[in-house]
Amino acid sequence: MSILNRITAWLSAAFAPPPAHDHGAQRALEPEAPVHFTAITVVGKPPGNENTVPGQLYCVMTANQPKWALFKCPCGCESVVTLSLQPMHRPHWRLTRTHSGRPMLYPSVWRDQGCLSHFWVRDGRIAWCYDTGTHPELRGYS
Ligand SMILES: [Zn+2]
Repeated sequence: MSILNRITAWLSAAFAPPPAHDHGAQRALEPEAPVHFTAITVVGKPPGNENTVPGQLYCVMTANQPKWALFKCPCGCESVVTLSLQPMHRPHWRLTRTHSGRPMLYPSVWRDQGCLSHFWVRDGRIAWCYDTGTHPELRGYS
């Protein structure tokens, strides 16, 4: 089994897709956002900022463990967003692969610099939060 197959198998096993009925009611009511990330690109080391392609979501794996998720900010500001996938880090995110092969990130991403974008990545689609563009520390309930 090649290393890539093993990584793919690991990702599939670790991140079982949610049941098909999840979000079904919501999907029927409002049109879905277009797909922004079509796949997860597994890499051994992070691509340089200049090699980070918009619409690509990279998962940096070392020693068979996911370490980082990287992607160009979906708002178009050209910043590269880097998220830790390592549970010992605070904060950290969980990257899962849906049965369509697209990425899902939990929790939401809220940039505390630059564009201050706040969004979810769900099945490769960007769901913008109503408070995107405001600083996380200015949220009403802190
Ligand atoms: Zn941005």
